Amino acid sequence: MSDRYAVVGNPVDHSLSPQIHTAFAAQAGEDLVYEKLLAPLDRFTESAQTFFAEGGRGLNVTVPFKLEACELADALTERAAAAGAVNTLVYGESGNLLGDNTDGAGLVSDIRNNLGWTIQDKRVLLLGAGGAARGALLPLLAEHPSQLHIANRTAAKACQLADEFSHYGAMTAGGLDQLCGGFDLVINASSASLGNQLPPLPEHLFTSTGRAYDMVYGAKPTPFVHWARELGVEAADGLGMLVGQAAEAFYLWRGVKPRVEPVLAQLRRTLTA
Ligand code: NDP
Repeated sequence: MSDRYAVVGNPVDHSLSPQIHTAFAAQAGEDLVYEKLLAPLDRFTESAQTFFAEGGRGLNVTVPFKLEACELADALTERAAAAGAVNTLVYGESGNLLGDNTDGAGLVSDIRNNLGWTIQDKRVLLLGAGGAARGALLPLLAEHPSQLHIANRTAAKACQLADEFSHYGAMTAGGLDQLCGGFDLVINASSASLGNQLPPLPEHLFTSTGRAYDMVYGAKPTPFVHWARELGVEAADGLGMLVGQAAEAFYLWRGVKPRVEPVLAQLRRTLTA
């Protein structure tokens, strides 16, 4: 029988994960089935436990269950523990559940490998201080930017995040209204684009070779991507991050690194068709 995997969330209908993992499996010749698992909002733990008790090998976890998945895991990777959120569960041979967070690694690999942008020695601005920003911090610091500044609509949350992560590396933080310019890379980890909104940002945010990245993706350029391009700034959305985090999860589960580019290209075609 094929090994079973799934993405669990609520809602989960919109998820592109089945398409991505089915493509990875075909590419790598891995025998698996990948489903969507809609968990009732108050029954994530039972849903996940039942899935594993019935032979499931791994879960991708999406909104709003990443914090509960962190509690459910028997052991956490360092990046999941730091993020306080789990997006991948791996069922181990001994029946233990390992929790990982592959979102930040997906972001960094998209920026570095797909887009060919550099983070090392660059001045990086991270917008937002929610779960996605938390997941991105460790992988971003590992790339050794010359500066990492977190700016959030609620300034206190950005400062709290910088404080919490201070033992991993130096960071500055503040509100959106205190932002100065001169960033080489601005990563929008806020959910503003989901509501078709643009955070209030100064036009002089970027250096002349600055780049913009929005974790949100869609059929059309997000408001942040659109705004950056209007300023003449190279900009990308988060579809590559989505495929990148899936590739990291696939590697954890199957021990095989799938090729991201063909799957990303196929997904982009589907999304914009
Ligand atoms: P959270 O709800 O945890 O955090 C939302 C953040 O966005 C907060 O910092 C909030 O600020 C800020 N925010 C919301 N609306 C606005 C606005 N109009 N202007 C400025 N700031 C705003 O969400 P997550 O961190 O989990 O997710 C953030 C985004 O990242 C989501 O849109 C999600 O889709 C995307 N994402 C993409 C992934 C991918 O693979 N491409 C993976 C994971 C996430 P405040 O604190 O002031 O409320």
